Amino acid sequence: MGIDAWVPRIAAPYAPVAVFIPYADQTLEVPIAGTPEEATVPPIPADVIPAVETPAPVPFPQPQPQFVPEPEPPPPILPPVPNPVAMPPPGIPCPHNWDDLAAQVVACTACPLHLTRTQTVFGVGDREARWMFIGEAPGEQEDLQGEPFVGRAGQLLNEMIRAIGLKREEVYIANILKCRPPKNRDPAPEEAAACENYLKAQLALVRPDIIVAVGRIAAQNLLKTATPIGKLRGQVYAYQEIPLVVTFHPAYLLRSQTEKRRAWDDLKLALRTFRQRQQQ
Ligand code: SF4
Repeated sequence: MGIDAWVPRIAAPYAPVAVFIPYADQTLEVPIAGTPEEATVPPIPADVIPAVETPAPVPFPQPQPQFVPEPEPPPPILPPVPNPVAMPPPGIPCPHNWDDLAAQVVACTACPLHLTRTQTVFGVGDREARWMFIGEAPGEQEDLQGEPFVGRAGQLLNEMIRAIGLKREEVYIANILKCRPPKNRDPAPEEAAACENYLKAQLALVRPDIIVAVGRIAAQNLLKTATPIGKLRGQVYAYQEIPLVVTFHPAYLLRSQTEKRRAWDDLKLALRTFRQRQQQ
């Protein structure tokens, strides 16, 4: 084994030379063979070389575990609405406070329905409700009383609301139209488009956690689709980024009592969706 030692030049061959052995920490007399030019240092006796302790391995820095947040539960699946209809033109601009909004609706002449209404039907209920029920348009009694969902259909809607553990006063109820179409005909697309911003303004003020679209007309207008209500039921959609579930109109349920079971299925879906949103 070679040694990294400094050897001074010597005057004569074979003369012992004092050599400092660094890792032996001592000076030894060692004979030098050959001429000064050929001088080599013989091997150092093993017993003068201290055992070199093998240093303990330095642990390689281990990567610190990264904080991995708990994965969030997936949001509810909101499938695209099939069979879309043409998008209506943007409605009229609306104020975003209750008093100004109600005053604007009362004075509204944005569509021909203002010519035949008795009064506008703005909406009723808790303005901070978590649930919002949206129907289509005022009927005869609503037009007379100025309140949505009155009469027998209104009483059945109240029962549906009670079935989910709430009272009528604890939800907010509105229609897509604030004025009654003559002879309770279906709303025309341009009437629904003209009135939609009032509903959007109400939604922005109430900020409910879930919407129940009550009846075919409401569902198709809110979802901008011509798909029959039978195919719209049973799924969760979104309107203004709020989950929306479709169910039958209580006036239809009064004529088709056997459909009440399916309406209850819709309300159970709405309840599940509502509770899921509460946990997020
Ligand atoms: S239905 Fe709506 S847009 Fe038409 S006049 Fe009444 S409030 Fe105005």
